[in-house]
Amino acid sequence: MSEAKGRNLLPEKIRVGVSACLLGNEVRFDGGHKRSRFITDELAEYFDFVSYCPEVAIGMGIPRQPIRLVGDPDSPQAVGVRDPELNVTGPLRDYGRDVAGKIADLRGFIFKKDSPSCGMERVKLYNDKGMAERVVAGLFAKELMAANPLLPVEEEGRLNDADLRDNFVTRVYVYARWKELQDGQPDKAALIRFHSRHKYLVLAHSTVMYQRLGQMLSDLNQQPFEEICTTYISGLMQALSRPATRKRHTNVLQHLLGYLKDNLDSAHRTDLAETIDAYRRGEYPLVVPLRLLQHHFSIHPHPYIDEQVYLNPHPQALRLRNTL
Ligand code: SF4
Repeated sequence: MSEAKGRNLLPEKIRVGVSACLLGNEVRFDGGHKRSRFITDELAEYFDFVSYCPEVAIGMGIPRQPIRLVGDPDSPQAVGVRDPELNVTGPLRDYGRDVAGKIADLRGFIFKKDSPSCGMERVKLYNDKGMAERVVAGLFAKELMAANPLLPVEEEGRLNDADLRDNFVTRVYVYARWKELQDGQPDKAALIRFHSRHKYLVLAHSTVMYQRLGQMLSDLNQQPFEEICTTYISGLMQALSRPATRKRHTNVLQHLLGYLKDNLDSAHRTDLAETIDAYRRGEYPLVVPLRLLQHHFSIHPHPYIDEQVYLNPHPQALRLRNTL
């Protein structure tokens, strides 16, 4: 992957895993699918999807008896809904472990919600009285997430929420940039530059992590470099997994305004400050103050701000910040 020129700091098409039924593949127990238009019509422009249907992969066939999870929440069993003697727990786990070890090229994964195989969380677990609680992950998803804790994951149902959608796509792009950096065998200067570009993005998610990551990189001689990289990316992905808030976005926008204060006349400064304040009050979506800032930075470029991922975390055509 290479970076486009200028302000566009985004990698090219990114490989992301997905539950096959979400692409419109007719692999469900009843021969149907659960196509997600957002995935197939919008994200597919930017993500190169790699599909998995664990139930078909373990030979259950199409159509097939539906399964559900029963028993101990720490070790749920996947059994047939009509025939509880059908138990596919072992094959689903084994397939999950097998796939989990082969997805180093993926930069994210979108799971089908509620599935006893693919659900990321809050999948129904039935007790022996037939009562269900939403407490566990699907067996396939659980193995993938356990073996790949840094991999950005999300469910298609949660992608209907504007904050979670923006958050997931942002994390996929950050993770893709990180892997690209790692592939180039970075030195200390490259790590510092990577962090520097992501500073305002992190600040929009967590002030504590913004400070902690900065401290972590303030002395790169304390630990072996590889250990620092491992701790750093773990902290960064943890920080980003917490959705950014309107309050924190406002804080970042005001920081960015500070870089323009010597270049703008008082009328433009006031206009920008009022636009940021209107965003804070919920009168404008995030895209409005951002576009205004970008407009001013295009006239008064600043090398540090020009590199900030915050201004351009994912393709603008996805319009993810139009509803934030
Ligand atoms: S939820 Fe998972 S197991 Fe079920 S049909 Fe979709 S891809 Fe297959």
